[in-house]
Parts: sequence; C-alpha cells; structure tokens
Amino acid sequence: MPSAAWHDGASMNGPSLDTIVNLAKRRGIAFQSSEIYGGLRSTYDYGPLGVELKDNVKRAWWRAMVQLREDVVGLDASILMHPRVWEASGHVESFTDPLIECMNCHHRFRADHLPDPPVCPDCGNRQFTDARNFNLMFKTYAGPVEDAGALVWLRPETAQGIFVDFTQVLASSRKKIPFGIAQRGKSFRNEITPGNFIFRTREFEQMEMEYFVKPGTDEEAHQYWIDERFDWYLRLGIRREKLRLREHAADELSFYSKRTVDVEYEFPWGWAELEGIANRGDYDLSQHAKFSGQDLSYFDQESQERYVPYVIEPAAGADRCLLAFLVDAYREEEVTTASGKVERRTVLALHKDLAPYKAAVLPLSRHENLVPLAKEVASLLRPRFMIDYDDAGSIGRRYRRQDEIGTPYAVTVDFESLEDNAVTVRDRDTMAQDRIPIAELVAYLNERLVGT
Ligand code: ATP
Repeated sequence: MPSAAWHDGASMNGPSLDTIVNLAKRRGIAFQSSEIYGGLRSTYDYGPLGVELKDNVKRAWWRAMVQLREDVVGLDASILMHPRVWEASGHVESFTDPLIECMNCHHRFRADHLPDPPVCPDCGNRQFTDARNFNLMFKTYAGPVEDAGALVWLRPETAQGIFVDFTQVLASSRKKIPFGIAQRGKSFRNEITPGNFIFRTREFEQMEMEYFVKPGTDEEAHQYWIDERFDWYLRLGIRREKLRLREHAADELSFYSKRTVDVEYEFPWGWAELEGIANRGDYDLSQHAKFSGQDLSYFDQESQERYVPYVIEPAAGADRCLLAFLVDAYREEEVTTASGKVERRTVLALHKDLAPYKAAVLPLSRHENLVPLAKEVASLLRPRFMIDYDDAGSIGRRYRRQDEIGTPYAVTVDFESLEDNAVTVRDRDTMAQDRIPIAELVAYLNERLVGT
C-alpha cells in the first residue's frame, strides 16, 4: 500500500508549479506553442494526453450542467459576432481607457482614477504596468477590406452569445423560466500580464451557463448555483481544504452585478479564481433589447406577467480547472511493491472521469506468444474506453509511467493468460491486483469507470 510521503517536487502543500509544468511537457499534456520558433509568450498547446484531459474536464462540466439536468440546454455560438454586441455589453466602452494593472493582484485600473504615484486600492501594492490605451478585446477585420465597417472582435467571453440567442433558444427548446443555457468554447483577452502557465493566457476556453430566473427569485437561485458549483469540484476529487468561496466586496463588483462569489483554489502561488458566480440582474438582456430594438422580455404564463429575466452566471475556465485538477492530483509517494521492495512513485490521483486513459494494456514482455493475446485484449477495450497499449521496458517501469499520467487500471497479459484466459488488473491508487477472466474484463471496468 502507498504511504503518503512527499519528496523533491512536492511538499506537504503540494507540488511546485515547475514540477507540474515539467510533468505536463514531458508527458505531452501541455507545452509551449510554436516552440520551434522560440514560442509565443503565454500560449500553450495541449498534447495527446492534454487534449483527452481537457476534453474530460469539459465533458464532466457538460454532464453536470446539461446532461443530468432537465432545466439546462446547450449552445455553440460563433466566436465572431456582430460588433454591436460588444457595444451593448459594455465591452467596447469599458476597455478603451488608459489602463494600468497591479503587478500583484492583477486588478486593472484606469490610470487617471488612481493617485499619482498609484497605489493599488485592493492590495496596497505600488508596482504597476505602464499605462496603455488598452482594449482587452482582440480586433480583426472580416472580409478583404480593412476599414471600420469590417471591424469584428474575437469574443472575450462566451456569455454574450447566450444572451443574443436567448429568444431563439427559448422558442426552439420550449423551456420555461427558470432555465439555463450552457456553452463551452474559446475566448480571447489581450491580458496585460498573462502567466502562471495555463492559468492566465490570451486564448483560453470557458465553460459558462446563464440561468434565467424571475426577478425576486434571483438571490435564492444564486445561492443554489454557488453551492452546486462548489460541490462539483469536490465531486471530482479536489481536496476540500484547497477550495474556498470568496465573496466580492461591494467596490469590487462589476457595475451590473448584485453579488458575485468566486470559487478559488489554492495553487502553488496562492489562492486564485477558478470560477465566478455572478448575479447579473437584467443588465444583459436589457442592454441587448435596447441596442437591437428587439423585445427580449419573457411572458410568464403561470403568473400572467411579462418581465425581463434576471440572470445567474456560473463562469468557469477549462484551462484553469485542468491546472487545478493536475496540481491537486499530483503525489509523490513511497510504496511497497508486490515483491516487497520499497520504491518511490509519482502518481496522478485523478478522478476516473478525468483520467486521459482509463486503462493500459501491458503484455508482460514482447514475447511472440503474448503479443497476439495482448492485442486482442486491447481491441476488446478500445471501442469502449480510451486506452493505451505499452510494451516497452520492464513491467515495473510501465506501471510507473501509467501512474504518472493517472491511468486508473493497468491490464497485464502474462504467460498464465495463455492458459487461463485471464489478466491481472492493477488499481492505480491501492496498487492491489485482481485476476479477471478476459470475458469479464469489460464488465469489470465498466462497473468501476461509470461517470459520477
Ligand atoms: P481574472 O480576475 O482572473 O482575470 P475574471 O474575473 O476576469 O478573471 P471572468 O470574466 O469571470 O474572469 O471569466 C470566467 C472564467 O474564465 C474565470 O473564472 C477563469 O476561469 C476563466 N478565465 C478568464 N480569463 C482567463 C484567462 N486570461 N486565461 C484563462 N482563463 C481565464
């Protein structure tokens, strides 16, 4: 059984960010983009394991937010939208002033709103970036002519696509308030100070849901979503003591927000936001009604009232969540192997729903008698689970490799398998080994891998 000892890259408080960055690069989870050209600052590519992990994070979110709910439907809106959208939302106007950013807490301020020399009103820090006439949105041109009429923005959040499509989705889904619209997708922000690996980048992926409610029921719905979102991280294995809720102070709230609470994780550099859950009131729908000239109100048949719904928004980032899951799952342990030897191993104790590979098929050796059966076992599992097949190196080393990427089950095909048509299944966490008939292997794994 593993003992919880920490070494080298990991302290009692968890791994350093460097340890995670190195693991991510070495194992093809995430690495610098355009590296052969020297890289582009703060852009990262997800490798073969990273693309699975991120997909599993997004799928876990979708499952909780859409699949398992009667009251939420999905949407995939365009990244490029009508430029008026960003005028209505306030993004064009609010981000065109000279901005400086506090180098400590990364809050941004209008340079002309702070004393000279500036002091950060949020954390007291005196170091700031230079002032720039800064719009956080990336600008580009649609079509061949680069003039003002062709100007479009890359969306800085997925939320506005949901507001703009509100009546479309309402009519086609025939939902009644309260109901929500969920969306995952890329967003772009020209951050002044990106950093901390994939925590803050200029291109990132969001997972947002807008929950439309009757005014007056908004506070209760807000609290419900705060609790529900906090619980989602716990259900996916994040340690309770590494997670907290932080209430925004009145002077920190966005001008339209009644109340905002962040879910924060204790990263190697300190507590930082994973997700914000905001009560946005009727700001967004009212603004779009005003700017588009369309009626975005809702007729409530039950109460025979017409109103502009209030909106509760849980807004998370897929990349940040992925980083938190990685950091939280990372362990360096001293373990006693089946043969009684004490060894050290690195293990990613990822929730099974998140693990990139669900199982690895490992022939004991490359012996010509073993390989056909091992390939057969792999073919049996492959249509059902994302699996790895690895026949390189000693079996002990291959177990370590799978531990390090969080594969929950290692399936070993040995010489006995040729006689008894059974395989050894090793559990990543307990390292216990079960002998399972090949005919029962799919059922065995299914039972242990079904989603939360
Ligand atoms: P921050 O204060 O860290 O800049 P924010 O409050 O501006 O974040 P929101 O606008 O609430 O962020 O966006 C919702 C979520 O999108 C965030 O909680 C975060 O998970 C993710 N997100 C926002 N900006 C970035 C970024 N630059 N890189 C990665 N993820 C981001």
